[in-house]
Amino acid sequence: MALIVHKYGGTSMGSTERIRNVARRVAKWARAGHQMVVVPSAMSGETNRLLALAKELAPQKPGAAYHRELDMLASTGEQVLVGLLAIALQSEGMDSVSYAGWQVPIKTNSAYTKARIESIDDRRIRADLAEGKVVIVTGFQGVDEDDNITTLGRGGSDTSAVAVAAALKAQECLIYTDVDGVYTTDPRIVPEARRLETVSFEEMLEMASLGSKVLQIRSVEFAGKYKVPLRVLSSFTPWDIDLAEEARSGTLITFEEDEQMEQAIVSGIAFNRDEAKISILGVPDKPGIAYQILGAVADANIEVDVIIQNVSKDGKTDFSFTVHRNEYAKTMDLLKEKVLPALGAQEVVGDAKICKVSIVGIGMRSHVGVASKMFRCLSEEGINIQMISTSEIKTLVVLDEKYMELAVRALHRAFDLDQPAAA
Ligand code: ASP
Ligand code: MG
Repeated sequence: MALIVHKYGGTSMGSTERIRNVARRVAKWARAGHQMVVVPSAMSGETNRLLALAKELAPQKPGAAYHRELDMLASTGEQVLVGLLAIALQSEGMDSVSYAGWQVPIKTNSAYTKARIESIDDRRIRADLAEGKVVIVTGFQGVDEDDNITTLGRGGSDTSAVAVAAALKAQECLIYTDVDGVYTTDPRIVPEARRLETVSFEEMLEMASLGSKVLQIRSVEFAGKYKVPLRVLSSFTPWDIDLAEEARSGTLITFEEDEQMEQAIVSGIAFNRDEAKISILGVPDKPGIAYQILGAVADANIEVDVIIQNVSKDGKTDFSFTVHRNEYAKTMDLLKEKVLPALGAQEVVGDAKICKVSIVGIGMRSHVGVASKMFRCLSEEGINIQMISTSEIKTLVVLDEKYMELAVRALHRAFDLDQPAAA
């Protein structure tokens, strides 16, 4: 008997019919003797619907007060589903109880719309489990120290599930979703993409951060930090398939680099088109400049990624970095109004139509020439590389957005990702 956490995404619970299926699946696990905690997100489309309503009524200059109410509003989608799922489980003959984040409580900081979990009290859940109940906990939401409801950012119920699994030291956290696992790349772009049976936690982290939308990145960080065994699998298999088969399906995110995984040098191609590039030209080349620029950006809560500073000429240099496309206008304004005047830099220019494409694989650690193979592949396609950034297990390039799909397809082929890995 094990303690297991299931997480179900919005499409897996998009109708009462599907909710009933989820309840039956969960009941199957519980009847097999497992202690079950389930973390659902909202019905598909519901969070978008709620946020669109807010946008219609939003104040001219939305501030913290508005963001507080956004969380109050958006968190309701999850509350609807925990109630419905608990009811569906009861009608399957199971004892079941649901909780909103604040009832557990799942404590977060006060960063509305992107709060971070600080602690989870496991006592209430454990007491229910001990009584044989299936416990349903809302995804996506928590409560800050002043009892304000917070949310964890879009896709945040993955993180809720992993955090609950960590707090309960669950044997495994199963993320049921509308895809049947993690793929070498997005099959909508490369139909030959393959499902990976296992992927290392570090690879998954890179892929998630580069826009592979299977898991919210914070959930992967959490899983890594607390060593939560995590599996991504399909919620569209029949609910009554053999439990052992179900438990082996999908993609397992592993912590050990086993020998099999050494075979593939590159495990996947990740990409992200929601990016923008900003360059500050003619920056005086002296200590403290990077801090002056990026400190101001960080203080505005804007995340920066690829950062490049050029060789200086005549005591001046150019400084470039990327931000999420949604933050582009805000970052440009900030730089023009606050940073540039203080810096004595000449100009800030930007491009909101770029993308990032990268090859990811822990095998890159022990192999040379992987990056050059990538560059050769892109040059053969006539694609210009604007920026490059590397880590031990990834090589990332910034490209004009219009080349994204071409680059992903060419790289997928060049690294033989459409062929099953050697056994
Ligand atoms: N319902 C939230 C969203 O749509 C959280 C989630 O689905 O994970 O972002
Ligand atoms: Mg999701």
